[in-house]
Amino acid sequence: MRGFLIICLLAFCPVFSFAQNTVTVEPPFWWEGMVYNKLELLVHGKNISALQPKIISGSVTLNAVVRPESPNYLILQVEINNQASGGFQIELTDKKGKTSSSYWFELKKRAENSAQRKGFNSSDAVYLILPDRFANADTTNDSRPELIEKANRSKSLGRHGGDIKGITQNLGYISSLGFTAVWLNPVQENNQNASTYHGYAITDFYAIDARLGSNSDYLEFVEECHKKGLKVIMDMVFNHCGTNNKLANDPPSPDWFNQWPEFTRPNYKGEVISDPYASDYDKIKMNNGWFDVTMADFNQKNPHVLNYLTQNSIWWIEYAGLNGIRMDTYPYPDKDAMAVWAKTVMAEYPYFNIVGESWLSLPSHTAFWQQNPKLPAGENTNLKSVTDFPLYYSVIQALNEPDGWFEGWSRIYNILSQDFLYPDPQSLLIFPDNHDIERFATSIGADFAKYKLGMVFYATTRGIPQFYYGTELMMESTPYSDHGSYRRDYPGGWPGDSINAFLSFGLSQHQIMARDFLKEILLWRKDKEVVHTGKLKHFLPENNVYVYCRYNANETIMVVLNKNTETTRLNLNRFNECLSGFAMGYDILSKKEFELKGSLLLEPLTPIILELKK
Ligand code: CA
Repeated sequence: MRGFLIICLLAFCPVFSFAQNTVTVEPPFWWEGMVYNKLELLVHGKNISALQPKIISGSVTLNAVVRPESPNYLILQVEINNQASGGFQIELTDKKGKTSSSYWFELKKRAENSAQRKGFNSSDAVYLILPDRFANADTTNDSRPELIEKANRSKSLGRHGGDIKGITQNLGYISSLGFTAVWLNPVQENNQNASTYHGYAITDFYAIDARLGSNSDYLEFVEECHKKGLKVIMDMVFNHCGTNNKLANDPPSPDWFNQWPEFTRPNYKGEVISDPYASDYDKIKMNNGWFDVTMADFNQKNPHVLNYLTQNSIWWIEYAGLNGIRMDTYPYPDKDAMAVWAKTVMAEYPYFNIVGESWLSLPSHTAFWQQNPKLPAGENTNLKSVTDFPLYYSVIQALNEPDGWFEGWSRIYNILSQDFLYPDPQSLLIFPDNHDIERFATSIGADFAKYKLGMVFYATTRGIPQFYYGTELMMESTPYSDHGSYRRDYPGGWPGDSINAFLSFGLSQHQIMARDFLKEILLWRKDKEVVHTGKLKHFLPENNVYVYCRYNANETIMVVLNKNTETTRLNLNRFNECLSGFAMGYDILSKKEFELKGSLLLEPLTPIILELKK
């Protein structure tokens, strides 16, 4: 989706051939009454830098014209004052002062309460979907003549044909499972030669990939999500773009991208950014290396690059009605530039939320990226949410090994005990798996008991729980395989599928049990304020049992995770500070009531979630 401006040179001189030059303006339009009212319009077209731009409007001023090195760009710095309405005319004139072309830049009316939109938070349960792999509602768009890679469902890393309509059609199903927010992996155009299904090599920041649908399909998706009480989180990528992006093919100036004498990858070690001893060599490689051969690395230190990306993110929020952004590879782009970006977005939408992908193994490194740091570790990132990889790793280990001083449940205990490092632990995104890592079921040996313990933990501990499509069916991946095995097609999404999860047709008894189990706890969680915002108190794991409670002024729940393979007696004395004042506990899972006296008899390998009653 771009604004097209046609320059017709010599159009009125029949002697000469008719020459046409297609010019794009990005962003293609904007809105009235935005906080962000100083725009940089990136105008692209063959040899247009020789033209003189003019703006015809009483309430919009052209502050400056930047002519970057490429002759094919003009950057117009315009300021839109509060009285501006409807739009304004941009005219490009040639040396003789004749208007070569004009472009109507529309200023749209903002949606009501746009600035007050609510971001996702710990009251939500997020469903993550890789759009190419969920449901194929329109088989006619699987391949598109104008896009290089065609559909090939037999290839693990090929395009399989899933689309936005397929997701929209199944929002009722997603909502029925208890989810309240949806995060799609990037949906913007990825017109690269291969492996374009994941969406992380964007070739047009303003257009939905036509194989996933159109911009209006995406708008319809967001609208339907909102009707069903689902918030929408858009995946964005500021670190890099696809090498087929016009910005990479024909950069406004070479310093739009980090340049190397030969192809150089980052070291993929985000830890170096916060390391007080790190060498510049390692930091520069981390920030400026190219994530992959098809991904040109943006130089966010260039203010025009930062403006381009910032405007794009605000454009999508306002255009589509987003509730949140998941920003890819947060430690890779320039940290200071990203801090400015996050601040700018939050100034426009104070109740919005952004989660930055911070794939780091320690709480200290992760906490460094969350806004308002408790330790003097650097400039404020202005980033509200970060991904809790340390917790993810600890849960897998906790479920797979016997308890020891450091092992088993102590892994989780020790990670959570470091929450003093985080300015806001409740805003951490927590997850049993995602599109980049082994499927949760595979990590736990497809063990249903471990699955139940894991799901209860993620649904009841602090943070914003995110679940990856298919995790509810205990879908598996192939160990040590390519990423495609983490991203298999959702059963029932394709015409002729022999198993259809949407219709509960052909699923194993096991899969139905797994899905019903998660559904039950998520539906329960939906209205449980004590889980959304209540305090957390946990007890040292003992005898393979981990106990914690969530509490507020009105309610207390107690969660007991028993990893023993035999029936276990749990003495309740230790938990008085959670239990005092309560006589009974109702387990929402077994629907049994327990008297809170003396001890509890725990079933082997079973979680319980007790709602405490007087
Ligand atoms: Ca399709």
